[in-house]
Amino acid sequence: MEIGMLKGIGPKTEKLFVNAGIITTNDLMSYYPFRYDIIKRSNINDLIQDDKIVIDGVVEGNPNIFFFNKKMNKMTFRFNIGSHLLNVTIFNRAFLKAKINVGSILTLIGKYDKLHNTIVASDIRFGKLPSIPVIEPIYHSISGISSNQIKNIINSVDDFDVIEYIPDYLKDKYKLIDKKSAVTNVHNPSNLNLLKQGQNYLKYEELFLFMLKMNSLKLNKKNKIGLKRNVDRDVLDKFINNLPFSLTIDQLNCINKIFYDLNSENRMNRLIQGDVGSGKTIVAVIALYINYLSGYQGALMAPTEVLAYQHLSNLRKLFKDYDINIEVLTGSLKQKDKKDIYKRLEKHEIDIIIGTHALFSDDVIYSNLGLVITDEQHRFGVNQRSNLKNKGITPDILYLSATPIPRTYALTIYGDMDVSSIKTMPNGRKEIITVLKKNSEIKDALLLMYEEIKLKHQIYVIAPLIEESDKISLENVNELEEKMTRAFGKICKIGVMHGKMDKNEKDKVMEEFKNGEITILISTTVIEVGVDVKNATMIVIFDAYRFGLSQLHQLRGRVGRNDIQSYCVLISDKEVERLDIMTKTTDGFKISEEDFKLRGSGDLFGVRQSGDMNFRIADFKNDFNILVRAKEDALDLLTKGNINNYPKLVKLLNDSVNLD
Ligand code: ADP
Ligand code: MG
Repeated sequence: MEIGMLKGIGPKTEKLFVNAGIITTNDLMSYYPFRYDIIKRSNINDLIQDDKIVIDGVVEGNPNIFFFNKKMNKMTFRFNIGSHLLNVTIFNRAFLKAKINVGSILTLIGKYDKLHNTIVASDIRFGKLPSIPVIEPIYHSISGISSNQIKNIINSVDDFDVIEYIPDYLKDKYKLIDKKSAVTNVHNPSNLNLLKQGQNYLKYEELFLFMLKMNSLKLNKKNKIGLKRNVDRDVLDKFINNLPFSLTIDQLNCINKIFYDLNSENRMNRLIQGDVGSGKTIVAVIALYINYLSGYQGALMAPTEVLAYQHLSNLRKLFKDYDINIEVLTGSLKQKDKKDIYKRLEKHEIDIIIGTHALFSDDVIYSNLGLVITDEQHRFGVNQRSNLKNKGITPDILYLSATPIPRTYALTIYGDMDVSSIKTMPNGRKEIITVLKKNSEIKDALLLMYEEIKLKHQIYVIAPLIEESDKISLENVNELEEKMTRAFGKICKIGVMHGKMDKNEKDKVMEEFKNGEITILISTTVIEVGVDVKNATMIVIFDAYRFGLSQLHQLRGRVGRNDIQSYCVLISDKEVERLDIMTKTTDGFKISEEDFKLRGSGDLFGVRQSGDMNFRIADFKNDFNILVRAKEDALDLLTKGNINNYPKLVKLLNDSVNLD
């Protein structure tokens, strides 16, 4: 049934749901709560300042309302809870005024300001609290539809269908309830035990199906015919010998693997993990060269424009003696230039195209794309192949990731990829010295900066990141600029870069930093990934606690890019213990493991996960044990059992796995 048929959903609401991919009641029922509140009367005597409070009582005096402007208002009234007489404040509920009178019985949920004998309510409900605690599901709002509305709509569904995917023997093994009850319990749990049973079912199901897809991809890979090339190793070695440096052992190992993959008829699907600065780019360049030699086009996708342009200038330099056409394609190119690139790609007048997501927009048609490389893969999410799915092309695929993840996790989530690691750093690198300072010790940081400036070295200054608000980030950048100008404005040039600048402005600043005109570059995290300026020897990161460890590690990797001693200064008044790890190690594997323990997978795979890792109900970290079990069960079924006995699973796999 389509959700438009439900009571309480008008065309406008329906459209919002549909935009979010929720079209039928069955879709709606698989939109699960992300957490639960337990609504139970608080004992006010146990509460301290600012504790959460849930309480019912009687309104004692008529409410007063203050309007600040059109959008803001505040209502206050006196409230009797039996043992105490309290003040209540609630914002932006003026519309409830008519219903709140002396004697009204209400339930309030909010914060207890004990000092002022006041409840700052976030929610008002009419009537008394139920006598037993209520478990209340909380949903992520969907473009303006609140959790409460979603809850009510879901409660109004009286029939829906489920598909039971899990084979009976596994349901028995884990004593799982049936799926329909599981879904019902998760939306409307009558007690904690039933909620748990519902969650167990749905989490296991989600992870089991995920693992089934992953592993069947891997098992099928042997049959997957890709492009076959026949590249002469001598030609490649000549290129390698002409490079300005000699490759590390790990770089060479990766190249050998890639050479083999590309020359064989199996389709390559390989991830190169290597710490920041370990030299992954050159491995990508060589892969592109092999691909070029066999007559195919290659694409290199970067997460940011800055990085795309850096790759462009790098590749043009490395290939300057070769007749290889390299261009760039990003969202911010002028329409005319984009069209020109599209045309030349289609005619194979471009051999290597570098860019952002724009490389795979619908308008791009390749003549014969043979290789796709995704740089800083963790920024995009795990599986990018779905981007290629609709293009009807089957290029070889290489991912580069600078967020190395612990092996057990890697094997589990990268189920269908081959993984190689670069652990050796290029010769002559010095370990970056990292220090942690309080805001009150800013003088120390400025002194360290001064020493580097005297040596004609360059410095990155990173403004605190505030995810929710570009505007505040901007203010932070401006404030830092003032500070830095006061300290160093007389002796060197200071540049600023942030996400709100247009491409030309960014380019100009980046160019000036690269050629040494700008000594101090103040920036938000737009410079985070991949940027390579060898003379930059110091990075100062303000409010470092706002970043995950892996992200800090990435940022730190902007310096220490040659044999000069480099420094990282972390400034933070908070979470000093967590940040201290940064001062003790520069091993990205260790840091990501620590991050994983502390923050879960979110940070590991980038701010926002996409594609396959977007679980509806399972949580990668907290449910890791279920994940491991689900993986074993999936592998057993695929290798020892007979999947054909389970037509629903076969259909699911056929529908989803054929990405190519
Ligand atoms: P990342 O792995 O972080 O992407 P890059 O590929 O940007 O690192 O490499 C970092 C720097 O090290 C670049 O300036 C690159 O030219 C240089 N580099 C890469 N490999 C070697 C090597 N084998 N010897 C010396 N320098 C190298
Ligand atoms: Mg890189």
